[in-house]
Amino acid sequence: MQDPAPAVADDKIRCDACPVMCFIKPHALGACDRYGNEGGVLVRVDPHVVLDHWLSDGGAVVPFNAGALDWDGSILREPATFITAIGAGTTYPDYKPAPFIVASEVEGVDMVTVVTEGIFSYCGVKVKIDTDRHLGPERALVRADGEPVGHVTTGEYGSQMLSLGGVHHLTGGTKREGRATCDALLALCNGAAVELTVDEGATVLVQAGKPPLVNGQVEERMRVGCGSATIGMFAKQWFGKVDEVVVVDDHITGVLSEHQAGKLLGIADSGIKMKGRRSTPGRYFQVADPGTGWGGTNIADPLQILGSFDPRKARPGLTMLMVSTTGEHASYYVLDEALRPVEQTMPDDLARSVALIQENCEPALSTVLFMGGAGGSLRAGVTENPVRLTRSVKDALTVVTCGGAPTYVWPGGGITFMVDVSKVPANGFGYVPTPALVAPVEFTLRLSDYEKLGGHMDHVRPLSEFRGPAAHRTRVPHRAENPWPLMPDAARGPHR
Ligand code: SF4
Repeated sequence: MQDPAPAVADDKIRCDACPVMCFIKPHALGACDRYGNEGGVLVRVDPHVVLDHWLSDGGAVVPFNAGALDWDGSILREPATFITAIGAGTTYPDYKPAPFIVASEVEGVDMVTVVTEGIFSYCGVKVKIDTDRHLGPERALVRADGEPVGHVTTGEYGSQMLSLGGVHHLTGGTKREGRATCDALLALCNGAAVELTVDEGATVLVQAGKPPLVNGQVEERMRVGCGSATIGMFAKQWFGKVDEVVVVDDHITGVLSEHQAGKLLGIADSGIKMKGRRSTPGRYFQVADPGTGWGGTNIADPLQILGSFDPRKARPGLTMLMVSTTGEHASYYVLDEALRPVEQTMPDDLARSVALIQENCEPALSTVLFMGGAGGSLRAGVTENPVRLTRSVKDALTVVTCGGAPTYVWPGGGITFMVDVSKVPANGFGYVPTPALVAPVEFTLRLSDYEKLGGHMDHVRPLSEFRGPAAHRTRVPHRAENPWPLMPDAARGPHR
């Protein structure tokens, strides 16, 4: 993209794409590395990314000049090309029309896509780390490069959630905190690994779509469920092979003989005594403190969570399996004459059931969702009446995408959206040193609706205009798992 920019002394030009307003020398880049001075012309240096539906459907790649859009003038290709905001640039301040407002015809319907690289000083990421291990207390600060960049929020269903970024870390702390936050968010959003440390907790290496490393140890499996759920899943496998099973879990530890599944199978009381707080039969909370040991507890020896066996019910020779919810830890015991569990070699059939738990675990991953609010002045680049854009998104007339990837738009005020960064084309995110993240945002709607909401109709350009030589434009396949954003009813898709 090229933009005329006012020349200043010494052949420098001034970039007006963000509040920093850099003076850029010839052949140099601005502070964000996104804009440069090429022969006195302000240029957005990264290629402008367009998605090609046809390539993702397995169409043959054009053998020459495949990066440009001038290889085929056929009108039939029109719906197969989607102009993303990646590399499109910004139009700060936002009252200027967005950099590209592109009309195309899809299945006989005139559509328009408004693209802009939004500057988000208030954005954040939500990180889901599939692990049983205790990463740190809820509300503990999460640091990157020693600076606070977020906090531990909740533990959910075998995953630990972190909330990083947001207005307070980006703009409300020291300059260094803002920079560290921006750097961490940018790296995570662009798929790089970031080391995070939790106050009074663990060090985690997080990378979108990759297994987390907790204190240097690769997390391989996400647990099958809590201890009670594990008993529900595998009780039948254990029936007749062992007298008692304890599934050790920091959240809910399960005891087979007391659990409803064990009762229904007719498993006899074993006289087992558990420490911790009994919730319902066979389900115990707080058997130990959280940690990085067995089942996300702080224990290395599972017998620590047991009291002595009741001699009226227990008997010498009674067998017991103790296992964690990932199957990563498992031990087999037999009660001796004094009713003390003594560890023995695990019988093969029980070892197979432990392997089955492991097999049923899903791979542990880190997942990164970018969360931004497109409800601010950015809307003025789309329409002269910004609230109508918000209403149009809420009414599902306008679909919001991020680099062509589907977003989840939160209910309530504004246009607060989340996107799975692994669905966005590579290096789709940037930054400006205000500090703020730069994220692609596209609004796609019917041209008639765009006119009704006060859109910048005099800036609408047909997609056919993009067929000329495009040295700074690159074509990438549309990801098959993403809905095609240009379908007229895409806004009414499953992501509402
Ligand atoms: S930081 Fe980047 S976008 Fe902002 S003025 Fe400088 S070159 Fe332009």
